[in-house]
Amino acid sequence: MIKVGITGGIGSGKTTVAKMFAAKGIPIYNADMRAKYLMTYDKKLKSQIITKFGKQVYHRNGRLNRKALASIIFNDKSKLSIINGLVHPAVARDGMAWFNSQKTSYAIKEAALMIESGSHEELDILIVVTADIDERIKRVQKRDKASIKEVEDRIKNQLSDAERLVHADYVIDNNDFDLLQEQVDALHEELLMLSLRG
Ligand code: ATP
Repeated sequence: MIKVGITGGIGSGKTTVAKMFAAKGIPIYNADMRAKYLMTYDKKLKSQIITKFGKQVYHRNGRLNRKALASIIFNDKSKLSIINGLVHPAVARDGMAWFNSQKTSYAIKEAALMIESGSHEELDILIVVTADIDERIKRVQKRDKASIKEVEDRIKNQLSDAERLVHADYVIDNNDFDLLQEQVDALHEELLMLSLRG
């Protein structure tokens, strides 16, 4: 089974592309969603987070208190890198176990911070989704009802497209939605061929 990653900057269309592969029956692991789950349900990760940030980052019912955590990490960059240093390895372990339990020719892990976290090194193939930065900002503003400044701040915490492309095996250009499906179809065929070759 080939381990494939999809990454790209905020608003590039990773989730949109991943859904097109899912429609073909390819299993998708959404690292951002899974990270949120693991922060509440992975005992080891939860106890590491409590050790570093205190019990107040969890609600009494045991679920993560996102607001409390966000107010700590977004005011202090060193705290952001501490939490990433705990969450990324937990997601990497969990993602590897997930890949190993898949039965299809290939499976896909989708993550925004794939290269930043180093998890692309565990993959066989990396797909980078790109779109022009102005277009990405417009999409995220619309989707999240966010200001330009808020979107730009999030972009600053990520690599640039040029830095991502250095690691790409395949690139999907998502500037034009009408040209997206045919790129996904072609890449799907290519990945099936690769998996046959072993
Ligand atoms: P994030 O990193 O924030 O999770 P993402 O890379 O997963 O973003 P999507 O959520 O797939 O990006 O897309 C961002 C928004 O842009 C969504 O509202 C989506 O419907 C829209 N979108 C995606 N592709 C296009 C496109 N080609 N044209 C116009 N809108 C698009």
